[in-house]
Amino acid sequence: GWNKIPVAPPDKILGISEAYTKDSNDKKINLGVGAYRDNSGKPIIFPAVKKAEEKLFASETEKEYTAIVGSKKYQQYVKDFIFNNSGKDANGAKLIADNRIVTAQTISGTGSLNVIAEFLARFSASKKLLVPQPTWANHISVFTAAGLEASYYTYYDTSANGVDFAGLKQSLESAEDESLVLLHACCHNPTGMDLTPEQWDEVLEIVQRKRFFPLVDMAYQGFASGDPYKDIGLIRNLNERVAANKISSYALCQSFAKNMGLYGERTGSLSIVTESAEHSVAIESQLKKLIRSMYSSPPIHGSKIVETIFGNPELYKEWLSNLNSVVSRLNTVRQKLYEKLDKTNYNWDHLLSQRGMFIYTGLSAEQVIELREKYSIYATENGRFSISGVNDNNVDYLADAINKVVNK
Ligand code: PMP
Repeated sequence: GWNKIPVAPPDKILGISEAYTKDSNDKKINLGVGAYRDNSGKPIIFPAVKKAEEKLFASETEKEYTAIVGSKKYQQYVKDFIFNNSGKDANGAKLIADNRIVTAQTISGTGSLNVIAEFLARFSASKKLLVPQPTWANHISVFTAAGLEASYYTYYDTSANGVDFAGLKQSLESAEDESLVLLHACCHNPTGMDLTPEQWDEVLEIVQRKRFFPLVDMAYQGFASGDPYKDIGLIRNLNERVAANKISSYALCQSFAKNMGLYGERTGSLSIVTESAEHSVAIESQLKKLIRSMYSSPPIHGSKIVETIFGNPELYKEWLSNLNSVVSRLNTVRQKLYEKLDKTNYNWDHLLSQRGMFIYTGLSAEQVIELREKYSIYATENGRFSISGVNDNNVDYLADAINKVVNK
């Protein structure tokens, strides 16, 4: 009966925000949630997005359903943006022209991961999915809920605060052939530490040799370099290998939550690069069948914002510049924090190699708890701090508290 339902554990990240809200210390800092805050600690709407919304408000005449996989226009813009790299990726452009990419608008990145998880659970011969250790906690939840078996490959060496590349290669080598493998396109969550282009090349050699199916998660395109076109080296490399028939297919889950600030609009996409135009027809039909039963069709406001921005050269330029400002602020405050941290007893150099929304401090759970209890600084106990919660007004207080906890 219903009275036997156990209480589920609260979401760790959302639990931190709740505790933060209840804290009455006016120096409190929330470093839990991975959403952008400006230098005064407030969420923003990208100016280009606001302008697109004004255009929509003036011109929209209906709120009809879009197609199960979103509008053709949205699919084309997304494909062009990511795979053709707006004219810079000839391999990707050919894959688009040959109808070898199936794209569906999805309910942001998480929805995209859910759709591909269900798809792979039905159609993949292997149900074994390799994910980096550590990874975004929701990856495990989404994939296991769909019936896939998730297991870790080595990614990060906590004691050295860096990628354990030898360990990574070894663990991929020892995994079962034809496994599914999850790759973070950039700004690895939670560590902020990415592979170099040379390291990606080595990893893709293994992927290719062992016939793994690459599943790329790209939630932070643009946050590594400030330029979304520079952050997709992994995708270009994959496209090159697909064009050369070395890798037959792969999937990409993408989100506009962070790089357009569309968090709550739930706007993203799933793309599957297929072996042929015939496969594309079958795969798209199965995606439609699946999505129809899951949520019928995606929301339209966010995707119309994307279409408006991508369809208007001025707004498009403005969006790229908005995104660049956001990323610049994060990098500036990352640098400021680094400068204020005491390096006598702790090497903080890893902070400068990490990119994206987070710093992976390497602080222990006890140290994170001490920061919370003594200084009202809220972060997840794995030592991941959302750098967007840091600004000119609190960086001194934060650095001072960290220095005290580290030097205790
Ligand atoms: N993947 C990763 C690694 C993420 O960090 C996030 C956002 N926290 C997502 C996917 C999906 O986010 P959303 O559903 O908001 O697009």
